[in-house]
Amino acid sequence: MKRLTVLIVLLIGSTLAGAEIYKWTDKEGNIHFSDTPVPGAILLDGSVEGQPSATHKTVSSGWEVKVVGIADGDTITVLHDGRERKIRLYGIDCPEKGQSFGKRARQFTSNMVFNKSVDVRPVTSDRYGRTVAWVYANGMCLNEELLRAGMAWHYKKYSSDSKLAELEAEARQRTAGLWSIPGAVPPSDFRQGKKTTIVARCETKARMQTSVNTREEVYHGNLKTRKFHRPGCRYYNCSNCTAVFHSREEAIRAGYVPCKVCRP
Ligand SMILES: [Zn+2]
Repeated sequence: MKRLTVLIVLLIGSTLAGAEIYKWTDKEGNIHFSDTPVPGAILLDGSVEGQPSATHKTVSSGWEVKVVGIADGDTITVLHDGRERKIRLYGIDCPEKGQSFGKRARQFTSNMVFNKSVDVRPVTSDRYGRTVAWVYANGMCLNEELLRAGMAWHYKKYSSDSKLAELEAEARQRTAGLWSIPGAVPPSDFRQGKKTTIVARCETKARMQTSVNTREEVYHGNLKTRKFHRPGCRYYNCSNCTAVFHSREEAIRAGYVPCKVCRP
C-alpha cells in the first residue's frame, strides 16, 4: 500500500512535469496509473488529483489475448481469433538460449505473462511473419520490464525508442541481470557469430583437405630414366625411383618428364 502511494505521488509529480499519465481500473477493481497507455485507460491532465479531466481521451484498443506459449524472453505465443500467433516483442532482444541469461529472460517473461491475459499492440511484422508488438500485462509493459531487469538489450537496429534506450542504460549502470557479466555479447552478434563459426569451420576443413591431398601427392622420380610417377603407379617405388618431388612443377623444373603410364 505504501508503495502504491509512493507510486501515485511520483506519477502525479511527473504529470505536473508534463508527462502523460493514464489511469484505469482492472477486472478486480484495482486502480492503476501508468505513463503508458492501455486500452480503456483515461488520460489524466493533472488538474484534479486522481480524477479524470473533462478533456480525457480513451486509448484505442489493441488485442486482448491470452498467452499460451513462451518461446524465449522476447517471443511469445498468444491465442488471437481462435488461432495461435507468434508475437515478437518490439524494440528489444533477449539473450539466446545458449547465452548467459537466456533461460532467465525466458523465465522472466513466463512469470509475467504465461497463461495470462495481455494487451498486444502491433507495431509491424518481421521477416518470419511474426507480429512485432508492445505487450502489456497488469498495467506493465513487458518490453520495458525486460530491459529494466537487465534481461534484454535495446534492439537499436530496429528501434530508436528513447525510453527503451534509457532503460537499457539504467540497467547497465545498475549492472542488473546480464549486465553483471563483463563483455556480454549482444544476441544479434551471438547469432552472427554462430554463422561465422560454422563457415570458418567449413573453410578450415576444406583447407585441411587440400593440404592433406598435397601431402599425399608426392611424386617419385627415376634417377636413370628421368621419369616421374604418381602414387599408385607400378613404377612408383622402383629401385631407381628415389627422387622425391612435392608437385608436378617441381619434378618438371628438375628436368623430369611425366610417366606415360600413370600420367602425373
Ligand atoms: Zn608412372
